[in-house]
Amino acid sequence: MSRRLSLVEAMGLGPLWQRRGVEYVYASTAATEAAPALLADSLPASTPATATPQPAAPQNTILPTTLPVNAVALHDTKNLQGLSFSELKAEVARCQDCRLSNTRNQTVFGSGSPQARWLFIGEAPGENEDLQGEAFVGAAGILLNNILQAAGLDREHDVYITNILKCRPPVNRNPQADEVAACQVYLAAQIALLKPELIVTLGRFASQTLLQSKASIGQLRGQVHDYQGIPLVASLHPAYLLRNPQEKAAVWRDLLLAKKTLQAANKD
Ligand code: SF4
Repeated sequence: MSRRLSLVEAMGLGPLWQRRGVEYVYASTAATEAAPALLADSLPASTPATATPQPAAPQNTILPTTLPVNAVALHDTKNLQGLSFSELKAEVARCQDCRLSNTRNQTVFGSGSPQARWLFIGEAPGENEDLQGEAFVGAAGILLNNILQAAGLDREHDVYITNILKCRPPVNRNPQADEVAACQVYLAAQIALLKPELIVTLGRFASQTLLQSKASIGQLRGQVHDYQGIPLVASLHPAYLLRNPQEKAAVWRDLLLAKKTLQAANKD
């Protein structure tokens, strides 16, 4: 057994990288750790950004749309290779590859540091994001900031935050399969440029899309998955947390799992 695997097991984290289709359940050593006071504080009372309603308890929730086609293949056909981060952002701003270009105010590429080790991926821009062109603003953004701060992460320097879709679906409806398929090229290109060491998906939709799984968010949480060689931890969307503040402890456990995964990986 390698030194890295020994360390992982000693920490109670193993197995870390889960092959698709194999059910490894993370034995959480953090489950008894309470969420910090910052997360226990009262939440901002405002309209949340778009997020598909997510059941907390495991159940066979099925993605209502066909999962997207292979993102890497689309990336190749669109010939985004060789673009810098700012060139890719400009390409997204010009995009008219799906119907959402007709209703958006502006595209929302993402925010944070392109050098960040952490990549957070949500579902789609909401009303505030569409108006401001920034990812995760408004009440859900404030809550995400609090979560990051509690985990010792600075939003501007330690993380990059984006969404599956770069344009807002009208009235925050669920993304449609052809929209996700059209937009996947940009997320794939972002990930290729960012080279994150860890991905945290926020909510059912982002988790199911990245993992190409129909499992419920309850089934996907609490494990470390693999996204093209990058460890991925599924968590809940901040907009869902605004409506269900009792789930804050669950998100805190997800963040602890993510932090321990990153720490273990860097001890190789
Ligand atoms: S959602 Fe994505 S694919 Fe659709 S127009 Fe916006 S950037 Fe283009």
